[in-house]
Amino acid sequence: MILFLNKDEYHYELENITRMFFWQVEIVKDLPEEYPDEFCAAYYDGPERQLTAEARINGKSSKLEADETDGDSKAIEYRLAVMLFQCLSDLTGKRPEFGIMTGVRPAKYAANLISSGMTADEAQKYLVDHALVSEKKAKLVRITAENGMKLGEKVCDKGFSLYVSIPFCPSRCSYCSFVSKSTEKERKLIKPYLDALCREIEFTSEIIKSLGLVMQTVYIGGGTPTVLSADELVQLTQAVDNCFGMPADVEYCVEAGRPDTISREKLEVLKSAGVSRISINPQTGNDFVLQKVGRRHTAAQIEECYRLAREIGFDNINADFIAGLPGDDIESFRNSMTWALDVLKPESITVHALTLKRASRMRENQSEIFSPDAALMVDYAQEVLVDAGYAPYYMYRQKGTVDSLENTGYAKPGYECLYNLFIMDEVQSIIACGAGAVTKLMDPKSNLIERVFDLKYPQEYLDRFDEMLQRKQYIKEFYDDHGI
Ligand code: SF4
Repeated sequence: MILFLNKDEYHYELENITRMFFWQVEIVKDLPEEYPDEFCAAYYDGPERQLTAEARINGKSSKLEADETDGDSKAIEYRLAVMLFQCLSDLTGKRPEFGIMTGVRPAKYAANLISSGMTADEAQKYLVDHALVSEKKAKLVRITAENGMKLGEKVCDKGFSLYVSIPFCPSRCSYCSFVSKSTEKERKLIKPYLDALCREIEFTSEIIKSLGLVMQTVYIGGGTPTVLSADELVQLTQAVDNCFGMPADVEYCVEAGRPDTISREKLEVLKSAGVSRISINPQTGNDFVLQKVGRRHTAAQIEECYRLAREIGFDNINADFIAGLPGDDIESFRNSMTWALDVLKPESITVHALTLKRASRMRENQSEIFSPDAALMVDYAQEVLVDAGYAPYYMYRQKGTVDSLENTGYAKPGYECLYNLFIMDEVQSIIACGAGAVTKLMDPKSNLIERVFDLKYPQEYLDRFDEMLQRKQYIKEFYDDHGI
């Protein structure tokens, strides 16, 4: 779909609105003499002080005009967004449930409204009236925001979270755009990568100690960290332990994502290292769907991993599910949820809506499309999980997600993952090590956030390792400059 605009300053929101309706959008920053057969457009005529949104799709047209009232550029952008959304809804018959809310952190947005003086009811109503969010989603956002705000009180002065990146997977799932390297091709990189990563953790820990920061959570993610051998996991967890001493009250999470990487020995290493929460992620309980998306395991193998993890003593396990996978439908998704609740019994469940970024294999192969039942699945998960005693506590959205839906973390009381909340709601500094890791430094007084990037790919990370250490020096500068 072509989107014509005449003002560059409004391009970001208007492009995002258009992307809620169309997979591919081309922006043209000039109005043409004559419009093509299919198009949408949003423009503001300065001298005429008129706002216009219009579109033509499948031979049908819609056009809305309004007088500009106060000239404030934010207000103009907002009104153009509402008008364009209405035109596209009229012509496509679709009404994305988050309305014109294009931000990736809806719960944080609602929490900010509440923190600025609105009651939770008023914030919920504001989402509906101002951002055209559906009543149902506004309620979910509000509940998630309230739960997240309560947990956010656990952030302590000078607290930080440590993220450690293991960017390797046994093979690549077809929906994934992650930079993760398949170990089939990259196994030889793991040893030098791990050695370098441990050095980076040690180097970073010295800076952290000099600043007197207090560790609150550790998250080893990826990729699939359990792709490491048991000995390699010992090396990594010992490096973390040696550097930070791992106080008993620190939340310590490891993604043990795929059963094809899990063994008794590895789980025992994690348990004895003090890991308090692991994720074992089915994505679906349907073997046909697992195969279709390139996950080389079955639901029965997931069950076996849960049994093993429980036997070893893990009492806080998360399960990720994805709504909208190709080959899945609402009935099969319902079965997956029943299986999760009756058989796996995880302490927390995260429901993702399928996201197809440009780099995913699925997106390259247009014949494999997502399930049309994604929105029904997300709604069903909410209903059944809340009934089963899980509460939503963090939420985020991504670009390229089917029906512009959300990802929501649900947990039984007391089993929420603070790291997930802290990173999504941006309430404390996340200090990150490893290829593809992004350190987010936060000044709690001003809410200013600055990022320090590690290079994305393991080979370039290794080739330019000294530069990675250099970049870490900025952590000290940031804390010193802001008097934290
Ligand atoms: S296991 Fe996770 S990170 Fe690895 S390829 Fe699959 S979806 Fe991507």
